[in-house]
Formats: sequence, structure tokens, C-alpha cells
Amino acid sequence: MTDFNDLYSDFIMYHYKKNDHRGKPESYDLCEKGSNLSCGDEITLYLSLEDGRISRIRFDGHGCTMSQSSASVLSEVLEGKTMAEAENIVREFEGMLRDERFDDEILGEAAFFEGLKNYPLRIKCITLPWLTMRKILERE
Ligand code: ZN
Repeated sequence: MTDFNDLYSDFIMYHYKKNDHRGKPESYDLCEKGSNLSCGDEITLYLSLEDGRISRIRFDGHGCTMSQSSASVLSEVLEGKTMAEAENIVREFEGMLRDERFDDEILGEAAFFEGLKNYPLRIKCITLPWLTMRKILERE
């Protein structure tokens, strides 16, 4: 049987190396930068909107594998959603990490991070992109 930790690190590394959402786009509608001082992680999110949906999400930044892979997952999960749907997903994600009930169908791949909810230092890394997204949602 595959060890859970192996599965876990495979998931993190897959998203860490995956570069299809990485890079500042030439044009975008919304942008926000966030940083996690305790680890030195930085993430900037760039959103493009079209017909009431988030048509594209790109991110830029540096930091540990957790923060960068979480940004990749966020981009994948939230792209194509409306702002209201995105807000709901962000809320579910935050609830999951606080050990509340959550809907893994809403969260999709992001539900994988549940395994790290008991590691407070890791949570700051994982939630950085989501907190940055929340800042955009609260502003709009
Ligand atoms: Zn970190």
C-alpha cells in the first residue's frame, strides 16, 4: 500500500512543478499580492474576468513548495467560476483547515490539503494564496 505521505508529497510536487498557471500575464483585470512572513512566501494573483466569470487565473511568486503548489491548485479550482462561486469555495477551504465540515465536491482537488490541517506552520503557507484571493473578493 502506498504511504499517505508519499501520495501527499507527489500531489504537492506535481503542482509545484506544474507551470501552466504561473507567470504574470500581459493583461488582467484584478491583481493582489500576499506574503507569509513566517516562511518568506510571496504570491501575486492575476485574474481576468469575462461574462461574469473568472476566465483566467495566473500567479507569480516564490516560496516553499506548499505555498506555490497551493497557488497552482487554487488557480485550477477557481478558474471558470463566478466570483460568488469562488467566494464559496474559498470559504469551504478555510473551514476545512479549521477542521469544520466541508464539501469535497465543491473543493475538488483543493480538498487534498485537508491532510495538513494539523500543521499550523504549514497552514500559513497553504492558505496564503487563498487569503490573497479573499482580499480580491472582499474588494470587489
Ligand atoms: Zn511556506
